[in-house]
Amino acid sequence: MISGEAQWTVETVLVWTIDYFKRNSIASARLDAELLLAKACGCQRMQLYLNPELPLTPDEREQVRNDVKQRVAGVPIAYLLGEREFWGLALNVRSGVLIPRPDTEILVEQIHERIKVWKKNNSPDQTCEIAELGTGSGAIPIALASLEKNLRFYCTDISPIAIEVATANARKFQSLWDERSNRIQFIRGDRFEMLASGSQFDLIISNPPYIPSNDIQSLQKEVRVFEPHEALDGGTSGMNFYDYLLTKAPLLLKHEGWLCVEMGFDQAESLTLLIQQHSSMKLVKIVPDYAGHDRVALLQHCKHSPQ
Ligand code: SAM
Ligand code: GLN
Repeated sequence: MISGEAQWTVETVLVWTIDYFKRNSIASARLDAELLLAKACGCQRMQLYLNPELPLTPDEREQVRNDVKQRVAGVPIAYLLGEREFWGLALNVRSGVLIPRPDTEILVEQIHERIKVWKKNNSPDQTCEIAELGTGSGAIPIALASLEKNLRFYCTDISPIAIEVATANARKFQSLWDERSNRIQFIRGDRFEMLASGSQFDLIISNPPYIPSNDIQSLQKEVRVFEPHEALDGGTSGMNFYDYLLTKAPLLLKHEGWLCVEMGFDQAESLTLLIQQHSSMKLVKIVPDYAGHDRVALLQHCKHSPQ
């Protein structure tokens, strides 16, 4: 690395780190270098350019050195920063919890549309009851709480780390609950096994694990090595959680309640076939993401077969 004390200024460290990241094929070399340096110096990214001559303290140097080493080893930048922005909200993330993806914002948009229709058909002070399978960082319910009032969420996750992080994120945005009459409950456990059957929910939402088990090994290293496999692995066909949700949704949803799920870009066909085996759930719409890939499926509970 840089030799001699005098050369360790904000500018020299930044230039060196960008170059080092580029040589190690880090795609967003400049951005990542700025973010890690700003983290070590406890300042905003743009402030780095206001004081380029400032020398780094030994602690700051040590921090940058460690983070740069980890970034080059493939640790996602969001884990190093402890944060990822989702729906404009800086959510806490750490190793053991899935980093929320931009594609999932399409799911949030579509759920929001369904909630708006629900609100039109119900009195303004009525609470919309929503169950989520696999909340992870809590990204989806927290984004929805920033958009609406009178929502009540029951969010499950099998991972104790996810429940811990999601709870911290919900607290971080306290005003979304108290001031908006929204409520959220996180429940650690397997799928929806802890929820009693009995038509209680207006919506069921999920971005479940959907990658086929054998495809996990071909994911990019950052995901494969550093993100939790239990957040990604959807079983042999990738369909395990959809199969479960399609079986369980009719028992949990009110009549005409919605099941809104994210899916893999190439899963529309297999998901459609699976849905056909569940006569009380009707596929209403498949919505593409910004890249044009099928991404979200919206289904409605109808007590009688749609045919
Ligand atoms: N909802 C978050 C998001 O969109 O960013 C996380 C989605 S991640 C793809 C799937 C989540 O399901 C992970 O947090 C994982 O821990 C959780 N999960 C996996 N198996 C589960 C199970 N059997 N029961 C409940 N949650 C499970
Ligand atoms: N979209 C995620 C990825 O490509 C997968 C998330 C999931 O399985 N739900 O890594």
